[in-house]
Amino acid sequence: MVESEPDVALEDTDRIEGRSALVNNTNAALALAGAVRSTLGPRGSDKMLVDENGEVIVTNDGVTVLETAKVEHPTANLLISTSSAQDRIARDGTTTSVLLTAELLRNALELSRIGVHPTLIMNGYRIAAEEAQRQLDEISRTASEDQLRATIGTTLAGKVDTALAETMTTIALDAARALADEDGGDDLERVRVKRTQMADGAAADSEVVHGLVLRKQRLDFATPASSGGGRIAIIDGGLETRELKLDAQIEIRSTGVLAGFAERKRAKLSAQVEALTALDVDLLCVRDGIADEAAPLLKAAGITAYRRFERDDLERLSVLTGARIIRDANRITAEDVGAYTSRSEEKIENTWHMRIDGNGAAMTALLRGTTPAMREEVSRAFDDALGVAFRLVREPGILPGGGGTQTHLARHLRAYSTTQKGREQLAIEGFADALEVIPRTLAENAGLDPIDEILALSAAQASNGAWIGLDAMSGEKADMAEAGINDPLFVARQALTGATEAAISVLRIDDVLWSNQGPQTPDWSNQIDDD
Ligand code: ADP
Ligand code: MG
Repeated sequence: MVESEPDVALEDTDRIEGRSALVNNTNAALALAGAVRSTLGPRGSDKMLVDENGEVIVTNDGVTVLETAKVEHPTANLLISTSSAQDRIARDGTTTSVLLTAELLRNALELSRIGVHPTLIMNGYRIAAEEAQRQLDEISRTASEDQLRATIGTTLAGKVDTALAETMTTIALDAARALADEDGGDDLERVRVKRTQMADGAAADSEVVHGLVLRKQRLDFATPASSGGGRIAIIDGGLETRELKLDAQIEIRSTGVLAGFAERKRAKLSAQVEALTALDVDLLCVRDGIADEAAPLLKAAGITAYRRFERDDLERLSVLTGARIIRDANRITAEDVGAYTSRSEEKIENTWHMRIDGNGAAMTALLRGTTPAMREEVSRAFDDALGVAFRLVREPGILPGGGGTQTHLARHLRAYSTTQKGREQLAIEGFADALEVIPRTLAENAGLDPIDEILALSAAQASNGAWIGLDAMSGEKADMAEAGINDPLFVARQALTGATEAAISVLRIDDVLWSNQGPQTPDWSNQIDDD
């Protein structure tokens, strides 16, 4: 058969671009997965990263590795944003989601090689992902108190030593419980809990204070250093008269004029202080400065003042006390005033700290360590622990760790695929195979033979159920509930969703390039014969 020249050329181009796009994208994904796979699990190794300024970071965290890497490939960037989304939404499971995405693409490429069209692969992957989510709910359990702790411990495994993990778990759970009923978005646990590194103790002395501890000293030492409670106003601005200062530089011609200005300035400040006194305010916190002239006025009014706050701290202070952040003291109303329950000052390691307590849920984590490097490590561990604890307290579903969950899903999906029609079956099996990348990599990183371990794990699950996983420390196939190796349900759920969506969006690019061939699979053998 002879076709017209241009048609052949066009068709060939489409086919080749379609396939080579998938090959190229899959390679990029696999390369990126290769960069993080050795960090997975408690026996994962650390990566040493050096940035352009020669700064060195040593990390065991997949998302840190990826976000620090300079990557240009669009698919690689898609994977990085998938792992960033995983970090934002679940605070854990970032390496897992990247490994899973890359493996889904690898298997999609295999399927396309034997002639399965991307549209069918995408359908099969969607069906598999939905069924997998149903299974997650099926096998998940509600964590007991001990299991909550064990699950947070699993998150920290391989990142910090057991003693530090214990301390971080305790203080993170304490903070998480205080936030359990609060409204807010993905970042709430970061917004509400201030983190301060302190050099006055060892890591084990770290604590969460229900209240705020800020490196601050009151404006005027003649005002009281402490108080058993009272009324607070918060101003996002200063207690100054900025306009007058500007005018003054231009217009001052005689001392009389100067005196006039000083008088007017004092009058303006005194009006502001009177507005506060009228509402019985005795504690004032302002974001910017406080004019020198205001200090005696405040003192006379019985108001203790603090200045120069970071915006985030003002927000926390507002939550803690119920005070509204206002712009201008002159316009303060009764509803803007908040209540604090105590205030004190203490000199720690030569720096004054003020502590304020109230009834709102704002806290300070005092993260201690004897060296700066130790304090950094404690801070990172706390961040991980609190991120997971906060979400886990709200949604205490847990799953077997140690590859147990993924092994179960793979086994279940293989059986389930036979209930589905045609070529989608193959895609569901491809999805099942991809999930096994997790137990396989955990085994590899523990120095075990991945194929033996997958077979043994599958066999152990066949007789003892989905909660059997691989304990990477002992090499045993054990009940993960007894071993205390648990993954949070929300982490596994997001990793599945994120990886499936990322893989599908790469396949869709490929699908566009194939589009003028209709939904059938291309006939590669024909093309080779034509030549
Ligand atoms: P991620 O970035 O995906 O969270 P991690 O390096 O934190 O990667 O590894 C998480 C995986 O390690 C989870 O699958 C978890 O079940 C597993 N894991 C944690 N502790 C153990 C353990 N003692 N034995 C086996 N697997 C473990
Ligand atoms: Mg983790």
